[in-house]
Amino acid sequence: MQFSELGLSEKVLHAVEDAGYKTPTPIQAQAIPHVLAGRDVLGIAQTGTGKTAAFTLPMLCRLEQGRARARMPRTLILEPTRELAAQVEESFNKYGAQHKLNVALLIGGVAFGDQETKIMRGADVLIVTPGRLLDFFERGKLLLNGIEILVIDEADRMLDMGFIPDIEKICKLVPFTRQTLFFSATMPPEITRLTEQFLHNPARVEVARAATTASTIIQALVASHGGGDKRETLRRLLRSAEGLKNAIVFCNRKRDVAIVYKSLEKHGFPVGALHGDMDQQARMASLDAFKNGAVDILVCSDVAARGLDIPDVSHVFNFDVPTHSEDYVHRIGRTGRAGRAGHAFTIVTEHDRKYVAQIEDLIKEQIDWAGPRLDELAPAEYVERDRGRAAHAGERSRRNTRGRAERDTAGRPARERKPKVEEAARETREAAPRQRTANRSMTEEPRRKAARRPVEDDAPVIGMGDHVPSFLLRPVRTKNVKTAE
Ligand code: AMP
Repeated sequence: MQFSELGLSEKVLHAVEDAGYKTPTPIQAQAIPHVLAGRDVLGIAQTGTGKTAAFTLPMLCRLEQGRARARMPRTLILEPTRELAAQVEESFNKYGAQHKLNVALLIGGVAFGDQETKIMRGADVLIVTPGRLLDFFERGKLLLNGIEILVIDEADRMLDMGFIPDIEKICKLVPFTRQTLFFSATMPPEITRLTEQFLHNPARVEVARAATTASTIIQALVASHGGGDKRETLRRLLRSAEGLKNAIVFCNRKRDVAIVYKSLEKHGFPVGALHGDMDQQARMASLDAFKNGAVDILVCSDVAARGLDIPDVSHVFNFDVPTHSEDYVHRIGRTGRAGRAGHAFTIVTEHDRKYVAQIEDLIKEQIDWAGPRLDELAPAEYVERDRGRAAHAGERSRRNTRGRAERDTAGRPARERKPKVEEAARETREAAPRQRTANRSMTEEPRRKAARRPVEDDAPVIGMGDHVPSFLLRPVRTKNVKTAE
């Protein structure tokens, strides 16, 4: 199958050629003719399959006729995260270079002013996160009755992030006669219900299950004792990994992203960080630094990294085993893309056995161990060392707490923002949406452990050595503690 057989316009075919694509991916080959024919499409595909171009390219063809009017966008694309929205904007700029279309991005975390100007000018394509779109609509700054095509991307992520009521609201605000393109990696019952309600006789196109991992990825488990040993293990892997060009390190919680980032930076690794508590500018700066090679290692949480298109990542390291097994598939899917070779190492402690079993169950294969298995691991000499450090580090940790709150993960001062209550609630969902149920149970335990955990793992044993006074083991009480991501 060739792109020229899909019915795309000359301009779009040129753009495809300029992008260097030789043949359409399966989702593109299946979806594009239906989109061009004006049919609703239900696409079951995950990121990395070329699904962005599957809706962007035919949309560009459709947009070649007609023009936008002030405050009345012609097409609307809903994305679960700000980064994904920005990425789709990049695709429109890349493929639509010859089209002279107005593309507007409405995402949380950035000022309203510029976004409003773009809408007033008339947007052909409006790419949004749901919360910010509804804010604009409710303030009367936007009309949705000119929408010809509605794209709902990553619907299952929207579900995870609690956006479904917003999506339902938006679907009712756009004209009944619009064309709807709906993409999701998985089809849980809530998503099926949504498609039954809002899609009209859709063409269903499906590529690769969400539970499959690319055969080009070499996966391995690495045993660790936990605590400071995990950071030591990570450093060892980063120093010794074969063919390492750049790497993404995944942590389960925002706080651990900050700790691992600081630890790696202290040990001289060129590292950046990405998590939901960083402001939009800092997130984009981190991502750009990684994309253009200014830093080789990016420490991330799942939400911040969801669906990011970072081509040619040679290695993925799971600093923590993900507790949701689908996250494992998404995480390691950052490497081994488009047929390239990739490596995925997962650091495993005694507590993670259950989660590893769930992952192996989902991907239907056993992951090999690199080095000793958990039960073959040498005794934890470092644990003794670690306990000694706790006394020293506990003191430093308390001294550092205030400074840390005033700085973001990229080491820059954090900016205070006081959004309206409604907006704040939505922005929080956009920025830190995952694992709401898990959060409740996760907050207490890590907080207790945090009081004991050494902040740095390579401090010399000083002072009280092995003995940790009980006052250092007491939980640290802070006001307005944020829940873990
Ligand atoms: P996506 O699934 O939309 O995130 O796309 C994943 C990656 O595949 C992006 O880097 C695209 O630039 C690339 N891509 C999309 N379509 C094609 C194609 N037909 N041939 C080669 N690469 C493609």
